[in-house]
Amino acid sequence: MTGFPTAVDIASAVRSGDRTATEVLSEHLARIDAAEGEIHAFNTVTEESARAAAERVDAAVAAGDDPGPLAGVPVALKDNLCTRGVPTTCSSRILEGWKPPYDATVVTLLERAGAVFVGKTNLDEFAMGSSTENSAFGPTRNPHDPSRVPGGSSGGSAAAVAAGFAPVSLGSDTGGSIRQPAALCGVVGVKPTYGAVSRMGLVAFGSSLDQIGPFAHTVSDAAVLLEVISGHDPGDSTSLPEPPTGISAALDRGVEGLRIGLIAEMMGDGIAADVTARTRDAAEALTAAGATVEEVSVPAVTYGLSAYYLVAPAEASSNLARYDGVRYGNRVEAATTGEMMEATRTAGFGDEVKRRIMLGTYALSAGYYDAFYGKALKVRTLTRQDFDAAYERFDLLLSPTSPTTAFAFGDKTADPLAMYLNDLCTIPSNLAGHPAMSVPFGVGDDGLPVGVQLLAPALAEPLMFSAAAVLE
Ligand code: GLN
Repeated sequence: MTGFPTAVDIASAVRSGDRTATEVLSEHLARIDAAEGEIHAFNTVTEESARAAAERVDAAVAAGDDPGPLAGVPVALKDNLCTRGVPTTCSSRILEGWKPPYDATVVTLLERAGAVFVGKTNLDEFAMGSSTENSAFGPTRNPHDPSRVPGGSSGGSAAAVAAGFAPVSLGSDTGGSIRQPAALCGVVGVKPTYGAVSRMGLVAFGSSLDQIGPFAHTVSDAAVLLEVISGHDPGDSTSLPEPPTGISAALDRGVEGLRIGLIAEMMGDGIAADVTARTRDAAEALTAAGATVEEVSVPAVTYGLSAYYLVAPAEASSNLARYDGVRYGNRVEAATTGEMMEATRTAGFGDEVKRRIMLGTYALSAGYYDAFYGKALKVRTLTRQDFDAAYERFDLLLSPTSPTTAFAFGDKTADPLAMYLNDLCTIPSNLAGHPAMSVPFGVGDDGLPVGVQLLAPALAEPLMFSAAAVLE
């Protein structure tokens, strides 16, 4: 799935007047027209507003103004990012028809940089899932093999890039929802340091874990996008005062002299042999480029999944309390307020969302709080400490992104635990608040893309991107 123009190339051609944003947009809309019926990457294609935005970019160039580093670049947005006046559904019936009164901060920043939004992409309902099969509007298909899932929860954003519908897109990552679909769709996907990108206008799932990040074909496109969307935002109380800087500048650094640790706990049980083989190939490539790669044990990552499936549902049960039939979207009328809320939530939420609300409510309930939620928080602290210990000896860490390549529809829907296991390698970075990214690295035995994951300490995005560029 290569050969599509990159965001960097598009922006430079549009800025210099070699190409118009309108022409670039038409090309992408034509690809959407041709293949969207099969792929279903989008919940909404915003053709009309995209044409108007492209015309504004072209008018700016004609007037001698610089529209910005993403001039005329088509961008797809995960449908849990608020867009003023444009439906934002989270792929849930409960939000059907709701139009946010404001734009997410990342949307405003992209628009200011000259981006052209082509649509809102499909996801697992409220970003809960690993295959996009939990969407209330039907699944997205993997452009590499339409009989396989694209991963999730940001499956639509990953597929939109892989299919050439947009050169770049945004997703959100609470436990792996950018990196895992990036791996399965053969594209680059980045979860930034917690707080580097504003969450203002991202519909909340697990607020202490959620981060917005880019999908792209190339490491340098991902770098440009991340630089545009990161930065302090007073609208998000967890936003860092200083974002990571100098990411694009670090792309040519190479890995000479870097110490990279291969996470032992992510190279054995539960990971397919072809995936560990590609990860070892990546380790060799980094060694050949001048890095020292050694195995390292990060013991607490073994408990990451268990801790995450208490912390994330706990936060979700609280965050999703706001969908009560009064303030947003759908309402099912009933005799009393209580009955209206019950009927609305019963009809509006899908099975997985209900499962998470119940798990989270249970974990937070009196008598169980210490045993479950409290314990999970301790594991979270332990995870951070074990990473800190590893980063005393290593600059970066390396692992597989996803345990397998893209799997078939229905393979894991009957067993929630089998689905949760997809996030084995990605969850620990969310618990720690650290950045991590998936880079395509070869194919599995089935010929489908494999992604390897680079992990870094907080704010070490520049070094992480240096290594990603080498792998690329
Ligand atoms: N698949 C994980 C979950 O279902 C992660 C989701 C995400 O990162 N949004 O919770």
